[in-house]
Amino acid sequence: MGRLAQTEGLTEIQRDILATVRDFVDKEIIPVATELEHRDEYPTAIVEGMKQLGLFGLTIPEEYGGLGESLLTYALVVEEIARGWMSVSGIVNTHFIVAHMINAHGTQEQKDHFLPKMAAGEIRGAFSMSEPGLGSDVSAISTKGVRDGEFYVLNGQKMWLTNGGTSTLVAVLCRTDEGGSTPYKNMTTFLIEKTAGFGPNPTVPGLTVPGKIEKMGYKGVDTTELVLQDVRIPANRILGGVPGRGFYQMMDGVEVGRVNVAARGCGVARRAFELGVSYAQQRSTFGKKIAEHQAIQFKLAEMATKVEAAHQMMVMAARKKDGGERNDLEAGMAKYLASEYCKEVVEDAFRIHGGYGFSKEYEIERLYREAPMLLIGEGTAEIQKMIIGRRLLEEYRIAE
Ligand SMILES: Cc1cc2nc3c(=O)[nH]c(=O)nc-3n(C[C@H](O)[C@H](O)[C@H](O)COP(=O)(O)OP(=O)(O)OC[C@H]3O[C@@H](n4cnc5c(N)ncnc54)[C@H](O)[C@@H]3O)c2cc1C
Repeated sequence: MGRLAQTEGLTEIQRDILATVRDFVDKEIIPVATELEHRDEYPTAIVEGMKQLGLFGLTIPEEYGGLGESLLTYALVVEEIARGWMSVSGIVNTHFIVAHMINAHGTQEQKDHFLPKMAAGEIRGAFSMSEPGLGSDVSAISTKGVRDGEFYVLNGQKMWLTNGGTSTLVAVLCRTDEGGSTPYKNMTTFLIEKTAGFGPNPTVPGLTVPGKIEKMGYKGVDTTELVLQDVRIPANRILGGVPGRGFYQMMDGVEVGRVNVAARGCGVARRAFELGVSYAQQRSTFGKKIAEHQAIQFKLAEMATKVEAAHQMMVMAARKKDGGERNDLEAGMAKYLASEYCKEVVEDAFRIHGGYGFSKEYEIERLYREAPMLLIGEGTAEIQKMIIGRRLLEEYRIAE
């Protein structure tokens, strides 16, 4: 096997893309990531570089100016980027989810309008389901859209928008209550174009993005609230043109998002392993390198096994979706496994660093604050286990 997290059976194009991204990460991201993160500074130059590489259009079909690549290619790119700095993968991720939702569910006019500019990174997407009172329980959404002729009037408050300030397009899930038989059939996704920035939005009256939420990690990328006060959105900005489908569209987006969070866990864990295995060969205690103490070797063995297992599971989940099959079971397992393993591998690398791991001078300090976000985003571990459990009972149902 040699190096960890190799992927069998990639095309030449996939290998070329990954080699280019790996080079970009090593040269443009890793050297500046920790400093920018400590200053909570948006990585403008890195984002410009990613635009040049075409990464914002990686999965958007070629007819709309993208590269038309698969979920697997995307996930492997995310793994590389997260190895450099997880926040940067967050900048691409909500954009990728919104582009996926428009491509899969949008009207032709919406695809023609949004996808070419999204492929170029001129329009950048954010995606908004969560509210102050709910995250896991999407059925409890209270932000409301009420029809008024050819418009809908939106009122409510959203929470935890990754890229809430820097994005120029937000896919917002609202309750519309137009006769659906369950709460899930009464939700609608609105595509709201806005100006980037914070405060009252100059182009969308009634829309406000209060300042950035201060976070323990995952800094650099902005995470915000979104306040909607009598915001008027044309009915043709309902995703897919028909109300009542929003919940299912969002769940489709979250499903590809889960593979992406798994990929982020793989990338962060791989970086933590690299840092741990390198430090263990430099630090000496009791007359030898700590890597020569069996207890440390066992730690490295456990870490590497977890890095490898999470990678293979993530690849399997992505390939299943690319093959046109339902992958909610595999995506749930991959997200659950990769995020838990990531937290454990990061903690072991931190321990290997001894006291220096606690110093801001060492990269592992940043990773230690980043890993927990993966336990929560795109559905907590408990939610993944609910999905996995339900699917297992479908697959293994016994005859009564
Ligand atoms: C940095 C960051 C970025 C984010 N970005 C976005 C974004 O871009 N867009 C967006 O829409 N959201 C975003 N989120 C929100 C995220 O998806 C939610 O935080 C997550 O889904 C959990 O919801 P919650 O925080 O409301 O926790 P809750 O749902 O209140 O859960 C609290 C605890 O209860 C557990 N729990 C809940 N229900 C059950 C149950 N039925 N059985 C057992 N245990 C249960 C949970 O697992 C958790 O441990 C982001 C969050 C963070 C922290």
